Amino acid sequence: MMVEGLEEQQEPLIRIDRERCIGCGECIDICPQSRDTEFPVFERGEDGRPQVVNEDSCIGCLSCEQDCRADAIRVEVEDRDDRYGPPDQRAEIKCRAMF
Ligand code: SF4
Ligand code: SF4
Repeated sequence: MMVEGLEEQQEPLIRIDRERCIGCGECIDICPQSRDTEFPVFERGEDGRPQVVNEDSCIGCLSCEQDCRADAIRVEVEDRDDRYGPPDQRAEIKCRAMF
């Protein structure tokens, strides 16, 4: 599933800072593309920390980044501002992604 307005060649790049990550799993739970999907973005690793197993499934909603209490996850694209737009548009993308 792709969010309208996102171009296929603009791939997300999910970075997890394993020094900061506390393994709470919130990013896995909140990710709309990791719940009941055939190709989840995240799987929980043996240490409880998220592992990115299907980065292509990410729709760039930024829920994981915004909800991480340890500020340990970033979803980056080269031209991120072009892709996601200003924060109010990102919120719209997030809503569309969740419903
Ligand atoms: S929400 Fe943040 S601290 Fe929690 S598991 Fe994900 S990356 Fe780690
Ligand atoms: S940006 Fe959204 S879809 Fe991508 S990994 Fe984070 S929560 Fe999942």
